[in-house]
Parts: sequence; C-alpha cells; structure tokens
Amino acid sequence: MVPLVLLASLVVTIDLRSIDAALSARVVRGIEAETAAVWRPYGVDIRWVGGRDRPAVVDVELTAFVERRALPPPAFARLFALGAVRLHVDLQTHEPIWISYQAVAALLDGRPSDRRMMATRFQEFADIEMGRALGRVLAHEVGHVILGAPFHRPAGLMRARFSADELAAPDRRPFLLTDVDVARLRSRPNSEPRASNPEPRTPNPDRISARGPS
Ligand SMILES: [Zn+2]
Repeated sequence: MVPLVLLASLVVTIDLRSIDAALSARVVRGIEAETAAVWRPYGVDIRWVGGRDRPAVVDVELTAFVERRALPPPAFARLFALGAVRLHVDLQTHEPIWISYQAVAALLDGRPSDRRMMATRFQEFADIEMGRALGRVLAHEVGHVILGAPFHRPAGLMRARFSADELAAPDRRPFLLTDVDVARLRSRPNSEPRASNPEPRTPNPDRISARGPS
C-alpha cells in the first residue's frame, strides 16, 4: 500500500473529446470522475476543459481523444491496445492522448458471462463500468505525462497490463501509484520550462494493453 502523502497541488486540465465514439453523458461523467479519483490522493487536481470551474493556474494542459477505432496493436497477440500517448524527449507532451473505446468495450465484453451479467441486463450498469474502465486507462496515460515516465512499473497504475475484471470493478486499489512513482511525482517541478526548440521525438514504447479474457 502506498501511504497517502500531502503534495503541493498539481493542476492538470484535460480537454476530453470523442471521435465517432458517441459517448453517453453517463460514460463521460464516469471517465471524468474516475480519472480525477485515481489522482486526487496524490495532490493532482484534474479539471475538465469546458467545465464551469476553469482554474486560474494550470500546470499541465492535456487533450485526450476517445475514438472508436482500434489503436495499432501491441507487439503480442491476444493483447488489446487500450490507450497511447507519445512523449517528447523532454518528457513533455504536446500531443493528445488516445484511448480506444472499441478496445476497452471488447475487453469488457469478453469477460465470462457471469461477470458481465449486470452490464448485459442494465445499460446504466454497463455505462458505469465503461466510464470507470476508460477513466482508468486515461489515468494511466496521464501518469506517463505527469510522471515524465515513458516506461512501465511492475505494479500499480503504471503497469503495462490490466485485466478486464480490474478495469471494471469498483475496487480502485490496483490503480494506486507505487512508492517510486510517488517519489517521482514529489520531485517533479510544478512548472517545467518548455524546450525552446523542438526536440526530435522519441518513439514512445507505451501501448497500455490488457490481458484478454482468461
Ligand atoms: Zn503505459
């Protein structure tokens, strides 16, 4: 377990957009609530562009697209690519985060019928699970940016792979930061100078993925 630590608040705005994914208002609210809830214990204040409470000071501005089509597949078969973000050499990003609605939906739909029964019977429940899962994928991608980490951890939010059951379940414990991540966040300067000349981009290894149904 990672102890809760009080950190100077880091304000992150996310402009959440959907491309051809026709997100219901309930799914959008779920994404927003879950992404914010994952980061709140660490002093990271996620705000949504378009909301009424636009903060006066913003440390990191991000754009995230939820799109219907699949992302390029990861290197291994039977894995779903759920989201991606490309980081620059200076570990800042000026490019959007991409989340695949289709991949997350296929993953949740692939659960054994007893574990997706409620979602099959009640659209509201399906939307809650979908918003929660998409929010966790988004929270992971946000982690790459604000931790300045183009790599993955063996445990916690910054793992390379999540299971469908973990993504859908109310239990948020599989999505905590590790102690190493918390230390990295604490050492992060709140306002990083932007590179004056564009640096060449490094290929980002991130393809957060998930184990298929087992
Ligand atoms: Zn990742």
